[in-house]
Amino acid sequence: MRGLIAFTLLVAVFGRETFEGHQVLRIVGRDEAQLSVVRALGGAEELQLDFWTDVTQVGSPVDVRVPPRSLQVVKDHLESHGIQFSVMIRDLQALVEEEQEEMDAAAATRFTEARNTDEFDYTTYHTLSEIYRFQDQLVAENPKLVSKLTIGQSYERRDLNVLKFSTGGTGRPAIWIDTGIHSREWVTQASGVWFAKKIVTDYGRDPALTAILDNMDIYLETVTNPDGYAYTHSANRMWRKTRKPNPGSRCAGVDPNRNWDAGFGGPGASGNPCSETYRGPGAHSESEVRSIVDFVKRHGNFKAFVSIHSYSQMLLYPYGYTRTPAKDQAELHSLAKKAVSALSSLYGTSYRYGSIINTIYQASGGTIDWTYNQGIKYSYTFELRDTGRHGFLLPANQIVPTAQETWLALMAIMDHTHKNPY
Ligand SMILES: [Zn+2]
Repeated sequence: MRGLIAFTLLVAVFGRETFEGHQVLRIVGRDEAQLSVVRALGGAEELQLDFWTDVTQVGSPVDVRVPPRSLQVVKDHLESHGIQFSVMIRDLQALVEEEQEEMDAAAATRFTEARNTDEFDYTTYHTLSEIYRFQDQLVAENPKLVSKLTIGQSYERRDLNVLKFSTGGTGRPAIWIDTGIHSREWVTQASGVWFAKKIVTDYGRDPALTAILDNMDIYLETVTNPDGYAYTHSANRMWRKTRKPNPGSRCAGVDPNRNWDAGFGGPGASGNPCSETYRGPGAHSESEVRSIVDFVKRHGNFKAFVSIHSYSQMLLYPYGYTRTPAKDQAELHSLAKKAVSALSSLYGTSYRYGSIINTIYQASGGTIDWTYNQGIKYSYTFELRDTGRHGFLLPANQIVPTAQETWLALMAIMDHTHKNPY
């Protein structure tokens, strides 16, 4: 038995991708020429770079994970072009291990799994099965308010679960929130779990949320890319995409935020299956995306759609694929301003906001461009904490503060949606 446990541990440890010697560089281009050099690095597949943030505009930092065997080449290349950079994360593996140890320690102090959602530990990261168990407990504890819908299955046949918060009625206008469509953005799934508990706690107590739920339904998909999420736990903490194999390529997965039928195939997405922004063989090719598309169309009465990512601290609205301003740009902008100011009021966290194309860069096939074109006016994307100190490895002690401040912004958007029917 002991031998078996030791063997199991060995597999658990060595079956995982290691990030030993990987560094995350923060690069700042001074002019367009320097930006092109940085962009070209992204195209050099043999370097195996992983862009954590996109190459956007002069002066905006670009965070790139560089494996050890490419480090010297990349640093020399940047220096030879006079491009400024700093080492943001010196030893990525150390952060990954620290995070895992914290998770293990939190699990060890719990002794048993949470018996209910009050006992659930919101201050640590959880596995997929723990989150799914939480969902079932929340439904069992609040049968009149919460139900679980399975809107489809992932490529690896995991259920795509959506929690529906409803006080009754049929065909009510609705609000959609999803977290974790990019699997490595762990603070988002963790925040999604916290939002679910927050909704059942605040209904009947917080007048604003109560008014919303008395008239509208809220749908929350916490683990929007479950295969990717399971994979970040079992094999590769830095996995972003889906897990579907790409025929003819050694690289798996599609970027589910480039897979939507909105400017699909245009600039700001890749046709290369090995790219982190690979758009896929066709629009809605990924069942994780297709399931939402079908559900949203079938439902037909979504009034707000919020898709939550990390990191960078931004609140964004359409468009990403075109420079043509959204026809509701003025209203979307002023609501974003209001939401961001509510968010900042709690801990002073500062957010930028604007359209995707003006705030980040041109990106095609994105979620909220599609939902906006479907007529869902209040379509937004968040990029949660931080601004790069930890990037995707946000320490677990920031989960609750992140969720709390984000909730204030969500409430601003939901409240506005409720009070401005269309
Ligand atoms: Zn993302």
